[in-house]
Amino acid sequence: VSKRDGKMRCTWFKPEFDHSLAALRDLDNELRAGLLNNEFLVHYQPLVDARTHEIVGVEALLRWARPDGSELGPGVFVPVAEESGLINPIGLWVLRRACTDALAWNIKLSVNISAAQLRNPEFPFQLGQILEETGFPAERLELEITETCLVLDPIVAERTLDLVRGLGVDVVLDDFGTGYASIGFLRQFRFEKLKLDRSLVVDSASDESSRAMMLSSISMARALAMRVTAEGVETADQAAMVRSAGCDHLQGWLYFSPMPSSDIARHLNQSSTGNDTRKQPGRITA
Ligand code: C2E
Ligand code: MG
Ligand code: MG
Ligand code: MG
Repeated sequence: VSKRDGKMRCTWFKPEFDHSLAALRDLDNELRAGLLNNEFLVHYQPLVDARTHEIVGVEALLRWARPDGSELGPGVFVPVAEESGLINPIGLWVLRRACTDALAWNIKLSVNISAAQLRNPEFPFQLGQILEETGFPAERLELEITETCLVLDPIVAERTLDLVRGLGVDVVLDDFGTGYASIGFLRQFRFEKLKLDRSLVVDSASDESSRAMMLSSISMARALAMRVTAEGVETADQAAMVRSAGCDHLQGWLYFSPMPSSDIARHLNQSSTGNDTRKQPGRITA
């Protein structure tokens, strides 16, 4: 059966997703073609200030609009691109796209970076080049990395992150609470920000021990001068809980879902109408 057969392509990403080597190789080839044919899109999800609910930044989230009309989320195809190394050119494409889209927005831009990108010795220089090409101010950019990036090769990761910070770009530890990041780990890498994983946010609204873990994570972050974002806030109860726990920024469907860049521009314009003079719209106050 031909892999290019329309029917087969449709069934690929159903629950019975084919993890065979041949299927993954085909998916990788499609990703390669997708990059050449401009099939990727970046959506943006706002982060809001926990108290004022003002938009303080956006996270860039990659999507793949396939020729058959289906849209795939990064959870499915990023692991495949990581495996083959294709995440390197895709990741650079995301950075260039996001820095271009967000240039006119006076807020922070967060971009997710994979372990494979962090291991690439060229990465910091490529990042510097993109900042130069797009004119995007380094101090408005932050890179989100997960601890797997660091655990695999902490020495290389530390060197890369030093170079990244040398450019003026902040580093954020993403998905905190899902793995095994230790206090020593947090000290070693000195992240500017920490993002509490959605699972921690969900569980701590109902479960005492999760709440205790979240509270201690936040006080640890505070002690290390890190800002904290709560991810995946879906309900008012969760929002109230993470706000009272001391999270600085909130992100989740309760506030905004990921959306195309044109919608972000519209939301930023809206939030500036009727804004008072104390604060600039969408401006991060340090
Ligand atoms: P992440 O960095 O932790 O991103 C947050 C994920 O949570 C996004 O899923 C977002 O759409 C989703 N989300 C936001 N608010 C809510 C909520 O209230 N409830 C729920 N249930 N989910 C919410 P998405 O877009 O599918 O991305 C999944 C993951 O793929 C990301 O997790 C990130 O690790 C990775 N990823 C996304 N874009 C890129 C990229 O450009 N490069 C790399 N290397 N990885 C990416
Ligand atoms: Mg992220
Ligand atoms: Mg995350
Ligand atoms: Mg996550």
